[in-house]
Amino acid sequence: APARSGPAPAAGPSGDDAPRAAPAWRVMLRYLRPSWRWLLLGGALSLVTGAVGLALPLAVRHLVARLAAGEPTTPVLLVMVALVLVTLVSGPLGVYVLRRTGESIVLAARRRLVSHLLRLRICAVDHAEPGDLMSRVTSDTTLLRQVATESLVGAVTGAVMVLATCTVMGLLDPVLLAVTLAVLVLAFAVVRLAMPRVNRASREAQKSVGAMGAALERALGALRTVKASGAEHREEVLVHRAAGDAWRASVRAARWLAIGGGAAETAMQVAFFTVLAVGGARVASGAIDVATLIAFLMYVYYLVLPVQSLIGALSQYQVGAAAVARIQEAERLPAEPPVAPPPPRATVAAPAALEFRDVHFRYAPHLPDVHRGVTFTVPPRGMTAFVGPSGAGKTTLFSLIERFYEPAAGSILLDGRDVADWGLPELRAAIGYVEQDAPVLSGSLRDNLLLGAPHAAEEDLRRVLETARLDGLVAQLPDGLDTLVGHRGTKLSGGERQRVAIARALLRRPRLLLLDEATSQLDAVNEAALRETVAEAALTTTVLVVAHRLSTVTLADQIVVIDAGVVQAVGTHTELVAADPLYAELAATQFLAATG
Ligand code: ADP
Ligand code: MG
Repeated sequence: APARSGPAPAAGPSGDDAPRAAPAWRVMLRYLRPSWRWLLLGGALSLVTGAVGLALPLAVRHLVARLAAGEPTTPVLLVMVALVLVTLVSGPLGVYVLRRTGESIVLAARRRLVSHLLRLRICAVDHAEPGDLMSRVTSDTTLLRQVATESLVGAVTGAVMVLATCTVMGLLDPVLLAVTLAVLVLAFAVVRLAMPRVNRASREAQKSVGAMGAALERALGALRTVKASGAEHREEVLVHRAAGDAWRASVRAARWLAIGGGAAETAMQVAFFTVLAVGGARVASGAIDVATLIAFLMYVYYLVLPVQSLIGALSQYQVGAAAVARIQEAERLPAEPPVAPPPPRATVAAPAALEFRDVHFRYAPHLPDVHRGVTFTVPPRGMTAFVGPSGAGKTTLFSLIERFYEPAAGSILLDGRDVADWGLPELRAAIGYVEQDAPVLSGSLRDNLLLGAPHAAEEDLRRVLETARLDGLVAQLPDGLDTLVGHRGTKLSGGERQRVAIARALLRRPRLLLLDEATSQLDAVNEAALRETVAEAALTTTVLVVAHRLSTVTLADQIVVIDAGVVQAVGTHTELVAADPLYAELAATQFLAATG
């Protein structure tokens, strides 16, 4: 895929540029298509089972006739046994094949959705609730199985059986068939009335399940704060409310499903009595004989099952359509193109040069500008510090370099080439990024370090551990590098988490190292050590730091003071203290205070 095809100009994830939703049935067909052979097999097996069900009564009638006439019955009996044997295999096998196919469809849908979610653009994630997105992968995809099995196959086999039965009935007496069909059409009218309500209720139910996931994720994700704030009960109420909404909506769906099913049931009874009345009159007038009327009435009952499966298919389709709509909604969130990461570099790569040229940026059209013409240059090698009040847009600078967002105007050049023209994997492979409050992922310490450099050699790992002052910690741990760190690294201290994040970035041997307040939680000893590390790294790579400690900033080869969306001044510490009042003030208060 071309490098630029992914990110579009900053727009909301549900923005107007999103492609229009395809109708649910078309999307479902897309999910079903790869499994069409299996669906065909499952459908055929269901049809065989149904056909044998239809044929058996005829065979019984034949058998009884032969018995009465004193003819041999063995051949008929053998045929019947064979038929029963066929259904004993085709019945369960059909159920298994369809179920299995349904699960394969669920699997494919889950994989597809997960691949998309992991590539979502950051702007889409800004607006999304992770818990809600998760529910689309876990709960909504499950409903696709019903669409594949009950709905599609139920509709096809139901329709075939109804047609077959109606054909036989038409041969027996076309007039009675017309009467039966008239009643059935009425039943379907009621069902059609109920189905949109089932659809709407299912949508609401699944939306509430998503809301419940989001509410639960919010509470469990901040359980310490929830406990410390005594907010368990209030969070509980939020989750319970969403669960209650899901219940209410599902009950509403069940009500309309029952009404639809009831209408079908009623129609069958009405059809039976109407056929009995009209058929009786026709027998009286000599149009048909009693035997035909009895056979016809039997077939009205034979219609029950396929009609029910047709109606079941319609209602399952409604539930499935609601799920498909939610899956599609998530799949329409803007994502980056899926591109394989570049192979690991064999040699240490040259440090990169960076330039911001009149960069303008805002997070959304209705939000104020963060950057209003930011311009600065960073030569290869050395350390550049970014300084400015909180909210000045320092973190945003790094996000733009990583292309988590696209600037509205201006350009960002890495090695003289606009980052927009870089392939995303190549661009990100060149950068080591320690984000502000960099998370440690659940798993082992080793998993965390290898996240961005899965093929790193053991000796590189050792070296980086030393550099990040983690070797002491690892030596203490009974499981060493294989120690599990808990969800978001809760088993580590804040400073340890920061050092893990720094080690993770260093292991990538980046050409450009971005450290966003990466030392804010370190104690004085570790901070001094890492200051050395950063200075050392700056000898071979280009280092950009957002630092809040004067001691780190003074080491920088250049300091960029950023405020009110523009660069206020660039220089060394000594130059800026003399020339820039904002820097002088920051240096005099915030930095000094921080270093104590
Ligand atoms: P700094 O790192 O200098 O403290 P940031 O770059 O994090 O500042 O933020 C700059 C401004 O952009 C702030 O006003 C902040 O509220 C806003 N902002 C940051 N991230 C987002 C976002 N994802 N969506 C909307 N506004 C944001
Ligand atoms: Mg910041």
